[in-house]
Amino acid sequence: MNRIHLCMCRMSGAEQKFIDEAFAEEWVVPLGPNVDGFEEDLKHFILDGDPACQGKEIAALSSGTAAIHLALVLLGVGRDDEVMCQSFTFAASANPVVYQGGRPVFVDSEPESWNMDPVLLDKAIADRVAVTGRKPKAIIAVHLYGMPARIDEICAVGEKWGIPVVEDAAEALGSSYKGRKCGTFGRFGILSFNGNKMITTSGGGALICPDAESKKRAVFYATQAREAYPYYQHEHIGFNYRLSNISAGIGRGQMTVLEKYLDHHRRLAGIYQVLFAGMAGVKYHANPWPDADSNYWLSTVEIDPEITGCTPDVVSQHLNKLNIETRLLWKPMHLQPVYADAPAYVNGVSEHLFDRGLCLPSGPWVTPEQVKMIVDEIAYLISSQSASLT
Ligand SMILES: *Cc1c(COP(=O)(O)O)cnc(C)c1O
Repeated sequence: MNRIHLCMCRMSGAEQKFIDEAFAEEWVVPLGPNVDGFEEDLKHFILDGDPACQGKEIAALSSGTAAIHLALVLLGVGRDDEVMCQSFTFAASANPVVYQGGRPVFVDSEPESWNMDPVLLDKAIADRVAVTGRKPKAIIAVHLYGMPARIDEICAVGEKWGIPVVEDAAEALGSSYKGRKCGTFGRFGILSFNGNKMITTSGGGALICPDAESKKRAVFYATQAREAYPYYQHEHIGFNYRLSNISAGIGRGQMTVLEKYLDHHRRLAGIYQVLFAGMAGVKYHANPWPDADSNYWLSTVEIDPEITGCTPDVVSQHLNKLNIETRLLWKPMHLQPVYADAPAYVNGVSEHLFDRGLCLPSGPWVTPEQVKMIVDEIAYLISSQSASLT
């Protein structure tokens, strides 16, 4: 049997046409018709028809990490500045703070969405101001596994303190909250098109900007910060962060199947949810509120070892023997050795989830039959483990 992956990219067939055009016209550079076309496709999908998104612009970049980095550059995050960051996330959310010489301050999650707890965020900011005498420069909130955060409340806390929000929607392309697409709530939003995300450009990302002027600044910094002179004049430190016209061609092809992929991820999620509903000790992570509409990039569960007799690690090893890929949940940043010295405001939620959670296959190659088989295998393992417990 072929390995069942968590979320492996799948080509639509349309990608090749865009790449061939780029070759035919020798647009093998980090700009060109595919870059423009991909940005237009993204704008159409994310922004069009939403009055709240009027005026926003999107810049295609070389990665989601680059997009976060540029957002911090544009917000003026510099040496010794503090940035509030969701602890329960992938390291790429926090690392760009350090690239800027700043210091991440980690904030734990609330149990319903698994994302940044807005009440704890507010308290944490008040404490940072008391301790350092300075306000943090930005707030990085994440929609983990595609599940929308309480982003309006997080933005309200940001507004109260006058601190802009960077919305890490790397995993949340197509998710929405209160009818509005994730990535459009914060001052800046970021997306990722890495090989294992909702769609891929092999590697790539995008920055959702509040207006045309800030997109212009983002592209300026993404193309080595060249000033408008006949020679190469530099007054700022720039980066090489623009998306290649070839990668953007892949993105344009992927955009033709995005809606289909979203339907597929949500359909598999629905099947998992029904099948796990009767299983004691296993809790499927479904939309916690009617206002939340996850893309279900990955389907995730909490497994209670006391009821099931299984740790997530044991389940993962069992499925791996059957050639089924799973992954433990992200290890919180405040537990990472590299961030041992970073201030952290914790409430136990992300540590609890890290102990119990597991990601299950959800990508465009996974079939409903495979989902049933995966759940059957977990049920079988649990029944054998709990039999040996008693
Ligand atoms: C993937 C990811 C990123 C980084 O995106 P890249 O395109 O891989 O650089 C950032 N944040 C989160 C939450 C991610 O999952």
